[in-house]
Amino acid sequence: MDTFDPDDIATINSAAALAEELVSNHYKMSASQWLKRRYDIRTLSDLDPGEIIHGPFAQIIRYEGHRRDRSLGSSAYDFYKICLQDHTILTALAQYRQLQLSPFILYIVTHELIHIVRFTRFLQQFDAAPEDRLAEEKRVHAMTHQVLAPVRVSGLADVLEFYGEWRIPYDGMRQQQNIS
Ligand SMILES: [Zn+2]
Repeated sequence: MDTFDPDDIATINSAAALAEELVSNHYKMSASQWLKRRYDIRTLSDLDPGEIIHGPFAQIIRYEGHRRDRSLGSSAYDFYKICLQDHTILTALAQYRQLQLSPFILYIVTHELIHIVRFTRFLQQFDAAPEDRLAEEKRVHAMTHQVLAPVRVSGLADVLEFYGEWRIPYDGMRQQQNIS
C-alpha cells in the first residue's frame, strides 16, 4: 500500500497543527486544556493491522487509560488515536485532481477533532447505533464546514466543495482494550 513520503508528513504535521488551533479556538479551549494530551495522529507506517481500514480516510481508536496518581481525582481517561489511512487519501488525491494534500488533511483532522471534542463532552456516544452515527456524521461535517469556511488556505474551497457532494462513507471507529 502507498504511504506518505517525508514531504507529505511535514505537510500533514503543519495542517494538523492548524486544525488543532482552529478546533481549540472554536470550542474556546485554552492550549493547556485537554486537546493536545488527549489524542495522537498516526499514519500508515505506524499503524497495527487492526488500525488499517479500507474506504474511510481515517479511523479513530479510543483507548481507556488509567492514571496511576489517584490523588488527582478521576483516574480513568480516554485517549484517542486518529489513524490516517495513507493509501485511501493518496488514491483520492490521484483520482480527484482538484484536491491538494494540505487542505485535504486540514479537513480530515478538523473533522476528527470535532468528533473527539464531542465524545469527551458527551455530546455523542462513541459506540452509537448506526443510524445515530450517520446523523452525527452529518452534524460533524456541517460543523467542519462552519469551522473552515472563514479560513483562507489555498485549495480549501475545492476540498469543501468535494465534501459538500460526498459525505459517505463515515470514518472507522474502534474501541481498543485498556492501556495503563
Ligand atoms: Zn466523521
